[in-house]
Amino acid sequence: MKKFCCETHVNHALDMMVAETKEYPILEKGDEEQQLSTKCDYCENEAKYIVSRK
Ligand SMILES: [Zn+2]
Repeated sequence: MKKFCCETHVNHALDMMVAETKEYPILEKGDEEQQLSTKCDYCENEAKYIVSRK
């Protein structure tokens, strides 16, 4: 389970993940390759962070 998010939605993504999993998720900064091909799950901006489950 992974969510991609831009800087604007990083807190939102964390909140959603906590609500869904009841655990605090891992927040990673996306690497350059992922940034090129991935959009934020919540808007049309480029994803800069990856929120994933432990
Ligand atoms: Zn966004």
